[in-house]
Amino acid sequence: MNDNEKEVLHPTIASREVTLHILKAFGIHMSKKLGQNFLIDKGIVDGIVEAAEIQPGDRVLEIGPGIGTLTQGLAEAGANVTAVELDKKLPAILAETLKGYDNVTIVPGDILKTDIPAIMGPGAFKVAANLPYYITTPILMALLEQHLPITHLVTMVQKEVAERMVAKPGSKTYGALSVAVQYYTEPEIVLDVPPRSFIPAPEVMSVVIACRVRETPAVAVRDEKTFFRVVKAAFGQRRKTLANALKGGGFPKEQVRDALEHAAIDPTRRGETLSLEEFGRLADAFVS
Ligand code: SAM
Repeated sequence: MNDNEKEVLHPTIASREVTLHILKAFGIHMSKKLGQNFLIDKGIVDGIVEAAEIQPGDRVLEIGPGIGTLTQGLAEAGANVTAVELDKKLPAILAETLKGYDNVTIVPGDILKTDIPAIMGPGAFKVAANLPYYITTPILMALLEQHLPITHLVTMVQKEVAERMVAKPGSKTYGALSVAVQYYTEPEIVLDVPPRSFIPAPEVMSVVIACRVRETPAVAVRDEKTFFRVVKAAFGQRRKTLANALKGGGFPKEQVRDALEHAAIDPTRRGETLSLEEFGRLADAFVS
């Protein structure tokens, strides 16, 4: 099939004209509540496919395929895509817009309630998504905490969220999300995406962030649950000293004093100054 024939059979969805045509033809009213902002820029779709280093045969989980814009880019690159979509109206429309792509499976449902190992089966896979912004953090955390065999996690997110994901200790945006993302992955902002790349245009700037999932977390800790409890408590009350924030987070006073001393961390420091390694040391001191 040459490019012209391809464009007739499978017009590129990532364009303003084709997207508007699909919206009209299927009478789609986009839902703000479901975070529906559809991509209309082929260059951005290609950028996500490239950042995920898609090779023919790769297994990819897509979250929220919408009308199939990114799904098509992934499928064209030869990936076997499993896409989970919450909007009940969309699977029937996707069956039309992605007709002929036998490497795409649509799974209706909420990604936060989906049994991902059951739909992906055994073996490594990649995640690619233009995430619904109203639940970006819960989705990222759910994917990371489950220790799924994900190698690459490449997503469109609000710029401000991406800045928190890559923030380093001491910066204003460094918080529990930064620690969690950097504990599990190596994140890198790869593309700036202006509002005009979507229909409707969101009110915020977006970026594509590529997170390469680490084979083992950035720091070895005795108990992951305690590690994240400490991190959550430390950032729970940002203006307090670490000792007070930990007490406020439910750790008993004596334990806080002993753990900080054992980990050789100054109790008057603030949580936002601690590196991942220091959080690890502190959490381990609570476990010993
Ligand atoms: N992938 C398409 C694109 O790039 O144009 C659509 C992206 S749009 C920002 C987010 C999509 O996620 C929408 O199709 C929306 O219906 C879907 N969605 C929202 N919440 C979801 C959830 N909890 N689980 C699965 N999909 C969800």
